Amino acid sequence: MSKKVYIETYGCQMNVADSEVVVSILAGSGYEPTENINDAGLILINTCSIRDNAEQRIWGRLKAISHLKKRKHDLKIGIIGCMAERLKERLIETDQLVDIVVGPDAYRELPLLVAESEAGHKAVNVLLSREETYADISPVRMDKNGVSSFVSIMRGCNNMCAYCVVPYVRGAERSRNPESILKEVNELIEMGYREVTLLGQNVDSYKWDNNSGIVGFPGLLENVAMLNPLLRVRFSTSHPKDISDDLLYTIAKHGNICKHIHLPAQSGSSRILKLMNREYTREWYIDRINAIHSIIPECALSTDMITGFCTEAQEDHEESLSLMDLAGFDFAYMFKYSERPGTKAAKKYKDDIPENIKSERLSEMISLQSKLSAKSKKNDVGKVFKVLIEGLSKRSKEHLSGRTSQNKVVVFPGGNHKKGEYVKVLIERSTSATLIGNIV
Ligand code: SAM
Ligand code: SF4
Repeated sequence: MSKKVYIETYGCQMNVADSEVVVSILAGSGYEPTENINDAGLILINTCSIRDNAEQRIWGRLKAISHLKKRKHDLKIGIIGCMAERLKERLIETDQLVDIVVGPDAYRELPLLVAESEAGHKAVNVLLSREETYADISPVRMDKNGVSSFVSIMRGCNNMCAYCVVPYVRGAERSRNPESILKEVNELIEMGYREVTLLGQNVDSYKWDNNSGIVGFPGLLENVAMLNPLLRVRFSTSHPKDISDDLLYTIAKHGNICKHIHLPAQSGSSRILKLMNREYTREWYIDRINAIHSIIPECALSTDMITGFCTEAQEDHEESLSLMDLAGFDFAYMFKYSERPGTKAAKKYKDDIPENIKSERLSEMISLQSKLSAKSKKNDVGKVFKVLIEGLSKRSKEHLSGRTSQNKVVVFPGGNHKKGEYVKVLIERSTSATLIGNIV
């Protein structure tokens, strides 16, 4: 059997970071990553369960790769991550193609499980853990640019948002030892990386209790930022109920902490937020964005919105639109509500908004957000931004592409500059997705 592993990752940034941990664990038993699926003896699909269409995509993918198994009889296919955790043995029972099923807290067992499947057994481990953070594992970096990377600072989630499957598939919240986080970031700096994004489902509740006291998220963020002024630091995701002024002052204080906060609102209606169990109101959310604007005036804001949650009336939807307008989000991810089995919403409320209404509301939201995004980019024209170069622009070899601290993409004639360098760019015009300018 070929000792090459091909790993395909779906879903959030956390899954991207997890895949790098998985590759590192498998390297310990002689597996080398490959980018060519035809070369692999082991194919792993790191899955997402957040919405039904995410799972449907994965079923589709399994079907599409089924011919590989017919050609190569000793090929092993593993489903790992959130969908593995949600469906467990059922994945093997319903799909004869799947040999290995591993949940997000059982990756250390992968070498053993692969060996079991090589011996002809179906291998499953979906145990969740209260302690596992993979703190001691140095992820094998799979990104292509060598400039920015993800670093996981915690796992799981203790918030029981009524619509969300994450607490069920990724288990209880636990924070990772800050020393191991700083060590990993230092290794990235030594490898030439210039940007890290600290990841957790609710970074504001990061907490580590050691002999010298408690480290919270503002303290951790500050310690990471102080490792090297050339390193940019981002983080995701903040929760509106927990984001503190202390954190905002920390962001304002350090030039290398990016001035961008992703603060998922989900809805602009306090009634819907209550049903969603988000533990804040529309007024509270507005208070938090006012605090952001007053403490970090240059801060960009992005959000996640769900449309068509149970009982959502036209007025609730309009409140979502008006909140988006008021906040003037620079960017937003917008989703139609998708009922997830086992969640509080699935058990207690009826998924009663017809599909066509969900779709109509979603398109209305998307068209509002594209206006807001265009406006936010237009406001940047005539200003100078410090840009971290990520590589060549997709459209032209003469142009480079990078990001501002506010996470906006900038394209400009590159001259002799290279990825990983910082340049100052004067923005001359904008398109719907990009700022365009020249180095000054
Ligand atoms: N922990 C983060 C938070 O609290 O915002 C992100 C969680 S989730 C990976 C990313 C986004 O997916 C959520 O912010 C929410 O907007 C969306 N989402 C989660 N469950 C959903 C569902 N059942 N239907 C539609 N969208 C959902
Ligand atoms: Fe899901 Fe809410 Fe946890 Fe985010 S905070 S992962 S939406 S339960």
